[in-house]
Amino acid sequence: MIEPVGTVWLDGALKPTEDAGAHLMTHTLHYGFGAYDGIRSYRQDDGGIALFRVAEHMRRLRESAATLSLDVGYSVDDLIEAARDCVRVNGLQEAYVRPLVYVGEPHIIFAHWLNDVHTAVLAFAWSGYSDRGNAEGTTALLSSYPRPRSLAGLYKAKACGHYLLSVLAYTEAKQRGFGQAIFLDEEGMVCETTGENIFAVVDDVVCTPPESRGLLPGITRDTVLALAGDLGFGVRERDLTADDLFTASEVFTTGTASGLLPIPAIDERLIGTGTIGPVTKALQDRYAGLVHGRVPDTRGWLTKI
Ligand code: PMP
Repeated sequence: MIEPVGTVWLDGALKPTEDAGAHLMTHTLHYGFGAYDGIRSYRQDDGGIALFRVAEHMRRLRESAATLSLDVGYSVDDLIEAARDCVRVNGLQEAYVRPLVYVGEPHIIFAHWLNDVHTAVLAFAWSGYSDRGNAEGTTALLSSYPRPRSLAGLYKAKACGHYLLSVLAYTEAKQRGFGQAIFLDEEGMVCETTGENIFAVVDDVVCTPPESRGLLPGITRDTVLALAGDLGFGVRERDLTADDLFTASEVFTTGTASGLLPIPAIDERLIGTGTIGPVTKALQDRYAGLVHGRVPDTRGWLTKI
């Protein structure tokens, strides 16, 4: 359940949530022509609160908008301040922050440039999965919706309209009793899930598909590639087929909202032992230590609120 918050940031200022509604003629509402991102704040072991890799998320938001030729009009620093303010003024600790760039009204023809571009930042309480959820992970279905190969480059942008396919694939998976869906492209290569990147441990090497397969270059994916190196694991970006996933010793997903999540089974086939594997567990612990300030933040990824 998402608890509503009292204050949001819209176009440069904090506002009461009820004063920040969008008109029905809002262009993005009709065509999904907009961009968003998702960031988390974490309670720190020293009692403080910090956003994790907020600068990278806000940079990606601006780049996603630029892919759609939308000018955000706020710098990365402005957007970081907006995110901090939203967490602080709403009295949140463990929170999810959702910046959204959208095209306004009144022109609902395709000429989006006739409208103003708006930037909103929203925050709500979110502490992710329980310890049990993190340990058990979630089953996955190979989606019947293929990722179009010719649009691979466009998936680098976190554009609202991409998520039509995600919602369809997620719904299909849930209706069939699975927790998540995995996208393959039209050549049968693994891309990502509906909202996370995917990793497989193959011959003790931590592998993930390359960006060229058409996936969002996740910030958690990048974090996990770095942490795997720190922990001494072999790391490789390489194409993965569905068979590679079935025969891997471990499969897990990465994303801001869910962190690192084991995938114990795909299409009713157990992966490895069908329980969280040692590599996934080591990376999950390291990631949790990092975001909560228990592991030294040598890369400057935490921004205190
Ligand atoms: N792929 C997709 C399609 C996503 O929506 C997300 C979530 N933003 C990710 C991957 C993971 O990205 P990140 O680690 O930056 O949250």
